[in-house]
Parts: sequence; C-alpha cells; structure tokens
Amino acid sequence: MSVKADPCSQPSLMHPDQAIPKLLEQVRPVTDTEVVTLPETLGRVLAEDLASCIDLPPFDNSSMDGYAFRFEDLNSLTHQTTLTLIGSSFAGHCFEGEITPKSCVRIMTGAPVPAGYDTVQMQEETEADGNLIQINHPKSKGANVRRRGEELRQGTKVLKAGVEIKAAELGVLATIGVSQVQVYRQLKVAFFSTGDELRPVGSDLAPGQIYDSNRYSIQGLLSRANVEWIDLGVIPDDPEAIRHAFRNAANQADMVLTSGGVSVGEADFTKQILDEEGQITFWKLAIKPGKPFAMGRIGKAVFCGLPGNPVSSMVTFYKLVWPILNKMQGLTPSTPLFVNAKLTTPIRKQPGRVEYQRGILSRNAQGELEVAITGSQGSGMLTSMMLANCFVLLEQFQGDTPEGTIVTVEPFNSVLC
Ligand code: AMP
Ligand code: MG
Repeated sequence: MSVKADPCSQPSLMHPDQAIPKLLEQVRPVTDTEVVTLPETLGRVLAEDLASCIDLPPFDNSSMDGYAFRFEDLNSLTHQTTLTLIGSSFAGHCFEGEITPKSCVRIMTGAPVPAGYDTVQMQEETEADGNLIQINHPKSKGANVRRRGEELRQGTKVLKAGVEIKAAELGVLATIGVSQVQVYRQLKVAFFSTGDELRPVGSDLAPGQIYDSNRYSIQGLLSRANVEWIDLGVIPDDPEAIRHAFRNAANQADMVLTSGGVSVGEADFTKQILDEEGQITFWKLAIKPGKPFAMGRIGKAVFCGLPGNPVSSMVTFYKLVWPILNKMQGLTPSTPLFVNAKLTTPIRKQPGRVEYQRGILSRNAQGELEVAITGSQGSGMLTSMMLANCFVLLEQFQGDTPEGTIVTVEPFNSVLC
C-alpha cells in the first residue's frame, strides 16, 4: 500500500533522477582512440561509424539442402515436374557449368545458386530417380533463396560510434570482413577500500576485524564494465595513508574509486584530503541502500566514493558509477529495462527514499511474472545481492507494500549478471 509521507521530512536528500544528470555533467567521454584487431574488440566501445563494404549476403545462396532450378521450368504450381540433374553446388564450391532448360542442380545450404536459377526446392519435397528429379509441391518463385544484399547493401551503415562490441557485433563485423576496428581507449580505474577493521582474505581476523569484501565485488563489477582495474588494497583510516593512496591512484587512472569513509563522522579524512588535493562534493541521495556518495576530482582523475556497507557499495556502483563510467567510455546512453511483476512476499518500507530491494524474478505456472524479496534487506547483507536477479523499485514516498501488488522490477543487466 502506498503511503504518502511529508516530502519535506528529509529536505536534504536528492532524488536519484535529479542527482544522476548532475553527476554525469561532471565527466567527459574519452576522445583517445586506438585501432585493435577484431578479436580484441569484445567489450570495447566503437569510435567510428562503420558501413558495410560488401553486399550481405555477397551472392544468392540456398537456405536449404535441395535442388535449384528455374521457376519458369515448372509445369504448374499444382503438379509435379521432373527436371534433369546437371551438377551440384556445394558451400564454397560453385556449379561451373551452363544451365539448360528443364534442368536442376543439387544444392547445399549456403551454396551459390547458379546464375539463371532462381528457386530452391527442399530435398524432403523431391524424389530422385537417377538423374531425374521430381519436384513435388512446388513453392513460389525465389523460394529458399537468400538474395544477394537482402540483409545489407554495400555502403549501408551497420554500426554507429558509441556502441559496445558484444558477441553479435563481433560476428556482424566479421561477416562484413572487418579485421581492424577503431575503438576508444580503455578506461583505467584504481580502487581501494578504507577501514581499520578490514583485513584481506587469506589473513586471520583479530577481534573487531572483518574481511574486506568490497574490493572483490568492485573488481567483479569493473571487469563487467570493461575497464582496466588497478587494485590498491586496503588503506587504514589514517590521513597520510589515504593521501598517499589517493595520489598514487590519481597518477595512474582515469577514475579513483574508494569504498568506505564517506558516511557522517568518517568522511572527515576523505574530505580533508580531497579538499587539499582536489575537490569533493558529498551527495545525500534519496536512495536505499546507499545514501552517502561522494564525487570529485583529484589530479586528472574523477573520484567516486562509495559507501562501505557491501550492498550499498554495489548498488551505488550500479546506479551511479556505472552510468558515469559509461559516459566516460564514450558509450551511447541506454535506458534500463523495467517490467511489472506480482509481488509474492510483502515488502516493508519507510517512506522517504527510493529503494532498490533485492528480488528474485520468475515466471509462475500461469506464465505471469512474479517477484519475491530475497529475505532481509540489510545494507550489510551481501547474500541478498547474490540471491537476487533483479531490483524491486519502490518509489520515494511509497510505504509498506502488500503481497499481490504489481510492482516495478529492474532485471539485473550484464554488470550484475
Ligand atoms: P563506512 O562506510 O566506512 O562507514 O562503513 C560502513 C560499514 O561497512 C561498516 O560496517 C564497515 O565495517 C563496512 N565496510 C566498509 N568497508 C567494507 C569493505 N571493504 N568490505 C566489507 N565491509 C565493509
Ligand atoms: Mg569505514
């Protein structure tokens, strides 16, 4: 059930729809490009418009195994016709002879249709008796022939600058014979975790210590975001150590990404150092998880500071840092896909912030989309992210939401899957 709260109850919190454009305004796309060979382009962003320099398909070819012939040689569409077999055309091996009236050629899928022929009859609808081929149930003229240029004409624009090369784009580029591609330079992101309580995996925990998990989830996210990452480890809550880490990171990366140390009370070191070494703005966003977020600059690098709570750090990465990276990478912006689904578990929510609760989206026996929350939604409970395949989006002033309500769901995209 939606409950309207007083919108002024937390006046300093900014709605993400308002904040994200402001964050994006602060960064510019890379302009440097490089030419890489086709297999190296996976995950890279195309820096040039590409037109096909060939027709696709490059020649008329068969979409079936069967017999090619001239449609006008058929007696009629309702009666069988017997044609004389004069040769064969296999994929990669053209029929070299001259065609004659009332003739046909054995043809395989992808093989060139001999000049003068225009139709292919699938093998299952023919009968062979030595060199005589009976065409049963003939189809229309042009049946089973993939015409030269029917998919793309030479000179047609196939891909635009700003697209990410994924498996299908790789295949399309290969289809049109492209061997080298101009892409934007890959971004470098240096990251570190801050916190005296954090220990790297492989070490023992003393009382009060926990393992640093954010560096690993961030590493996973950055890999999926197709950037080069530099892991600078765990930095203690010590101003000089943090200053050194910031300088070191800014010297080698386009973005410095940190986790922890941006919440009230903790932010002092980060603020003090970035005020001296660069610039920083603390954002209080009306999102849960993930209210505190910092953005600024140090040297030539963009700085993004994620909250330390593990779920908050992943959600703020996904919602804020990933669009920022996308813009810096030169990617054309994309809009997330939302679907409606029926809630199968009640949701508890305080009005005040937009919430991204972790959910499991599935299809029920009736074929309807339904979504369940992955149990407790604490911002420190990373298993809630692991079990989820979507966010259930709950608007800022929405309150508790009962089972059975149709809710908006954002399936995880390739960064989280
Ligand atoms: P902070 O944002 O530094 O105030 O941290 C908020 C909470 O997240 C605290 O419970 C921290 O112990 C925890 N936390 C901070 N950084 C990490 C990290 N890298 N891995 C796991 N938990 C963390
Ligand atoms: Mg901390």
